[in-house]
Amino acid sequence: MASKIAVVTGANKGLGFSIVKGLCLKFDGFVYLTARDEKRGQEAVDKLKALGLHPEFHLLDVSDENSIKDFADYIKTKHGGLDVLVNNAGILESNVYPTYDAAKRNIDINYRSLLSIEKWLYPLLRDGARVVNVSSACGHLSNLKNKKLLEILQKKDLTTKEINEFVEEYLESIRNGTFNKDDFVDEGKHAEHRVSKMAMTALTMVQQRKYQDKNISINAVHPGHVKTDMANGKGDLEADTAAQTILYLILDASPNLKGVFMWHDKKIVDWY
Ligand code: NDP
Repeated sequence: MASKIAVVTGANKGLGFSIVKGLCLKFDGFVYLTARDEKRGQEAVDKLKALGLHPEFHLLDVSDENSIKDFADYIKTKHGGLDVLVNNAGILESNVYPTYDAAKRNIDINYRSLLSIEKWLYPLLRDGARVVNVSSACGHLSNLKNKKLLEILQKKDLTTKEINEFVEEYLESIRNGTFNKDDFVDEGKHAEHRVSKMAMTALTMVQQRKYQDKNISINAVHPGHVKTDMANGKGDLEADTAAQTILYLILDASPNLKGVFMWHDKKIVDWY
């Protein structure tokens, strides 16, 4: 039987690094630590090797479709398929009211990357595969106050096209100066992040429905407020602790747990 393969994106530091560490300890197969920067990625691999662990490294910039395609080609040629995929890579802009370019960058990395990943990596998912999308509390619909948009995102037959339109409408409002702060909680602060993560969680639901005939599970997680660079080291949870929820979904949860949004305390929250 072919060896199992696990891949974690954005794993050179923070939560991704801890997920790889946990997988190296518990997953029976090859674990790929991927990163957008070769040096940072190799250094992270070396740190884990110093602990006696054996992750593999591959370059993967999730905002670059060619990089995703190259990685998919590599996995296909070397291993033939994929069993675990953790979409963890993400950014948070420092400005609470970002420029159009910054908002677009956030959405490209946190959300649109998932569309290219679906295109190139999902065809490699093997029977029984598990995908975890690392979303956020910002990825819950309670961040949205606009009733019309809420109705769309809550639709049971929501499509990727409708999620893309939601994202594009937001970006267009930033570009043309019609952004309405009242459409979101907290006076629209970090709306770009809320939009990117709500789109990510919504896509999780859409994908689970779309691939229902394949025996794979696709779930989203809010990992908690984690002490990483993204939270300026100020979170409540250590990264190794926060990684446990993701490891639970990959290794221990029932394979019937599909299309859920799980909080860091393992509670499943309502999306619809
Ligand atoms: P960090 O900033 O510590 O780590 C983010 C990782 O993503 C880094 O390895 C970074 O690489 C990588 N990354 C960014 N852009 C890309 C890209 N284009 N391609 C590949 N990798 C990329 O943050 P966290 O570990 O905290 O975040 C991990 C995930 O958890 C994110 O999705 C985040 O939104 C989510 N999350 C975190 C929370 C927290 O409190 N920390 C709360 C809720 C959700 P590089 O070093 O090269 O920049």
